[in-house]
Amino acid sequence: MELTKIFQSQKEFFNTHQTKDIAFRKETLRKLKAILQGNEQRLYEAIYKDFRKGTFDTFLTELNLVYKEISYFLKNLDKLTRPKKVKTTLSLQPGTSHIYADPLGTTLVIGAWNYPYQLTLVPMVTAIAAGNTCVVKPSELPENTMQLLAELINTNFPSDYLFVAEGGVPETTELLKLRWDKIFFTGSPKVGQIVYEAAAKNLVPVTLELGGKSPAIVTKTANLEVAAKRIVWSKFLNGGQTCIAPDYLLVEKSVKEKFLQLLKDRIVEIGYNDGAEHYTSIINKRNYDRILGLINTDKIYYGGKHNEETLYIEPTILTDVTYEDAIMQEEIFGPVLPVLSFENYDEALEKIIEGEKPLASYLFTDDDDEKDKLLNRVSFGGGCINDTLMQITSDYLPFGGIGNSGIGHYHGEFGFLTFTHQKSVIEKTTWGEPDWKYPPYNEKKLKWLKRVF
Ligand code: NAD
Repeated sequence: MELTKIFQSQKEFFNTHQTKDIAFRKETLRKLKAILQGNEQRLYEAIYKDFRKGTFDTFLTELNLVYKEISYFLKNLDKLTRPKKVKTTLSLQPGTSHIYADPLGTTLVIGAWNYPYQLTLVPMVTAIAAGNTCVVKPSELPENTMQLLAELINTNFPSDYLFVAEGGVPETTELLKLRWDKIFFTGSPKVGQIVYEAAAKNLVPVTLELGGKSPAIVTKTANLEVAAKRIVWSKFLNGGQTCIAPDYLLVEKSVKEKFLQLLKDRIVEIGYNDGAEHYTSIINKRNYDRILGLINTDKIYYGGKHNEETLYIEPTILTDVTYEDAIMQEEIFGPVLPVLSFENYDEALEKIIEGEKPLASYLFTDDDDEKDKLLNRVSFGGGCINDTLMQITSDYLPFGGIGNSGIGHYHGEFGFLTFTHQKSVIEKTTWGEPDWKYPPYNEKKLKWLKRVF
């Protein structure tokens, strides 16, 4: 009931047109940034309580991305909101043609737990920049971050403009019954289906940012030291709980042993020990048990230690893994890296193509032909050649999945397009009426029509 009222009040507020004013949007973004900056310490403490995520990681992978998005919109909003003049086709002359970035209205953002700040705030920032109202439903699993987000937004902004709704499945189910102008969801493909189905009932447009199994491929031509450094960093960041982390590794057989050794050396060097400030715990006991259940202890090459009290799982490498193993049947979402090897690169790509379209793919190579084959043959959300994760940090690249890993994009201009409707408008002069348009028709008019088009 409470949520329905907030939804209604947001509809009414949107219809006052205040959210569309560019100065109002900018002022909101500046205010939001100031609130976050003024409460940074509390934001760090809340996420540490939830899953022992350290300050550096939280700044790098959470707040930094939110600040960056705010800065992008403050810098580019005038340009983005200006009606875009396009060519006017001959048949529409005399006249002009423009595309207006029309705010959608009342939007709902549903977030996943693994990056509780940026996965809710970046879409909210985009919704604000695009002139909408927004209700955010963060994940209930990290409850300290959820409560803090609710406090910071709900005490500083009117609820008919921006509101954080706390809660889990019942509250989300309630929200999904309402006729939003847009739903932006981040989470698992399974819940994505529920959201899509609920949205379909009201023909609500959706963006789905989902997950899946993202491969990292290392061929014999790669710079192995660099590959090991970048793969270890991205795989074990956030305790392995990153949607675009390499889920599994495909390494060319001839360099497999050498590469395994490099991975292990790198893990030891970093010191991902229980209690290390830069190593995040597993979110809850359920996921801790699930991840441990995926580890076949006979295949451990490195790692495997765990601590139920602190929900610590050591970075773990599994070797000689096959596509039939349990760990290859679901998204791991934890600090376990299964390593599979290949002798034929084309066949390795075929195996990726056989599966669901990945959210990300990473290739380490020095061979242009291998690079071209990956890019031409494999459909995936986004990725890197000779790096990992960094595609998410660019203001100029769309972020999103494809097929089972998602629908739609955001970040920078792509997010702006996602949260606006591209309204096409022809403006005509009142002179220069084409006679051939109107009945009664005859042969001469038909000739004209054919010529004009
Ligand atoms: P989840 O799908 O379990 O939950 C996401 C949100 O949906 C939460 O807010 C939750 O409260 C809500 N929810 C859960 N069950 C629901 C139900 N039955 N009905 C309605 N709402 C429900 O996902 P998660 O465990 O929070 O996150 C992990 C998943 O998210 C992974 O698959 C990961 O790859 C994906 N992910 C994707 C991205 C991306 O940008 N593509 C980013 C982070 C995480």
